[in-house]
Amino acid sequence: MEEMITLFCLGNGERGCDGCQREKDWQTLNQLPDPLRLAIQGQAKRIDDTVCILAGRPLYKPSTSGD
Ligand SMILES: [Zn+2]
Repeated sequence: MEEMITLFCLGNGERGCDGCQREKDWQTLNQLPDPLRLAIQGQAKRIDDTVCILAGRPLYKPSTSGD
């Protein structure tokens, strides 16, 4: 099982979101079958990327997934 996803960010193509694990988690979510995706999304929180950006990205997390 993957590491638990508790926060995700849609990123919206923002440059500052590049390499952020929160955005990768969102991409990971999108590759999951719907029932699993919805279950995880139900207990994870979506980061408001605008708020995150304006606050200086306190929630930015460098990607931890190896290639
Ligand atoms: Zn972001």
